[in-house]
Amino acid sequence: MKNLIFFGAPGAGKGTQAKKLAEKFNLKHISTGDVLRAETANDTELGVKAKVFMSKGELVPDEIIIGMVEKIISGLLDKNGFILDGFPRTNPQAVALDSMLEKYHISISDVLFLDVPKEELIRRLSLRADIEGREDDKNSAVIENRIKLYQQKTKPVFEYYSNQNKFRKITGVGNIDEIFNNILTIIN
Ligand code: AMP
Repeated sequence: MKNLIFFGAPGAGKGTQAKKLAEKFNLKHISTGDVLRAETANDTELGVKAKVFMSKGELVPDEIIIGMVEKIISGLLDKNGFILDGFPRTNPQAVALDSMLEKYHISISDVLFLDVPKEELIRRLSLRADIEGREDDKNSAVIENRIKLYQQKTKPVFEYYSNQNKFRKITGVGNIDEIFNNILTIIN
């Protein structure tokens, strides 16, 4: 299996690149944000719980997210592999991911980080608000909170994967195909 993790701040373009990679290598794209938005739209128990956090730009509690991801991954063991987009976002999530992967005798091949400066992130998020209409992209205080939490909680996870020698940084500014080609060079 080829199992990848995509890191990047909100608006870094990880969803776009993850979709392209998933298509090229026939991998399952797992966006925890998309899964949560679907749960919220369907008013499921999980969706109702998650909405409280998502609408404020807070992180959904680790135990909720970890259970949700394990359910998805355990259904993919006979497939080519997966790309995690938006998970793990905290150190406890990264540790829980490793223990679940160990249980299933699989592992992460590469961890990709799309690096984009903050001013560019804010510009892209306000464009996306107009195009996709996501509630959490429309409010500048919510955007700031998401970027702040990314700095505080998610950036420390980079070290976890550097220590495993899996962390690869890619410049996330430029045209989509150029960035995609840089990603291909790195993972091949
Ligand atoms: P995203 O589409 O990845 O930006 O995620 C949208 C929102 O879903 C985030 O702002 C969080 O509230 C929640 N979320 C998605 N993934 C996670 C995660 N791994 N841990 C905690 N909250 C998450």
